[in-house]
Amino acid sequence: MAKKKSAHELSYLLCSECKERNYHIFRKRGAEKLEIRKFCPRCRAHRVHTEKKK
Ligand SMILES: [Zn+2]
Repeated sequence: MAKKKSAHELSYLLCSECKERNYHIFRKRGAEKLEIRKFCPRCRAHRVHTEKKK
């Protein structure tokens, strides 16, 4: 049987200030770009994080 291709791919969430990759998430293929407020350990504050593909 053929191996099923994953419907999800790994993305990173980058801090918009320091560009640090703070989180990695699995996202559905072809989904729109994500923007989310999360805590950045480097800035030590909540920052908008944007999605970046691997
Ligand atoms: Zn940051």
